[in-house]
Amino acid sequence: MTTNNSVSVLGVKIFNLSQKEALTLIETWLQDTLMTRSIFIVNAHTLNLAKDDSQYRVVLNSANRVFADGTGARWAARLRGVRLKDNLVGTDLIPHLFAKTANRGNRYFLLGAHPDTVSRAARKCETAFKGWSLAGFHHGYIGESETPDVIAKINSAKPNLLLVAMGNPLQEHWIHNHQHQLRVPVCVGVGGLFDHWAGNLQRAPAWIRERGFEWLQILLQQPHKWRRYLLGNPKFLLRIISELPRDLANSNKTKY
Ligand code: UDP
Repeated sequence: MTTNNSVSVLGVKIFNLSQKEALTLIETWLQDTLMTRSIFIVNAHTLNLAKDDSQYRVVLNSANRVFADGTGARWAARLRGVRLKDNLVGTDLIPHLFAKTANRGNRYFLLGAHPDTVSRAARKCETAFKGWSLAGFHHGYIGESETPDVIAKINSAKPNLLLVAMGNPLQEHWIHNHQHQLRVPVCVGVGGLFDHWAGNLQRAPAWIRERGFEWLQILLQQPHKWRRYLLGNPKFLLRIISELPRDLANSNKTKY
């Protein structure tokens, strides 16, 4: 049986934590300067990519925690006998983390998005998240030759939290490839979060999100993502049914 603490979906181990439990865990990790831990947040699109790419699956499964975001992941878990306690979408989780851990000397670094977007996101964060300090920011279009300088910049800024917003699968590969060089307690892949903070993307109203249609709002604002949603969502539905036996067998083999 899948356990209540975790569930395998299309070969990716997802941890089932409530928002409160996730925040408490991250709060502890933020203080542990001896380790660099990674958190990835997966949705139907991420899981579709992982199904098609075994290397990406390995990267996701190597994270310290994988959390789930969105209706697709919730349905997939339910089919595998697990009721996910919360939707751990970064757009909500990260602001809650800032609020819960304010005024403790914590510092964050933003890495990702276009230069103009990340700088606007940084300005927004400085006013929105009092009680945390902005350690620095850098855009997410980094060539291999620039990477050592970017890592040095991050490390010398001494953040507790590194938010990486380069989209899937790039952000997870980036964190995975550089985790051993980073001196940051917690790194989280946050997708389009800086676009939200910079005001490039509007969030769907709560009633749309609660009904599981946040993706529709994203599609309306970013029509170039039509394949991801209009083809990807039905593909995901078929896959979570056809892969059910394999996922259940995987869960039986692995005691998390
Ligand atoms: N991005 C980046 N570097 C890249 C490609 C993308 O920093 O090489 C940024 C992009 O500018 C955007 C963010 O990654 O701000 C999220 O991109 P996307 O909307 O494609 O991600 P997803 O919807 O998959 O989270």
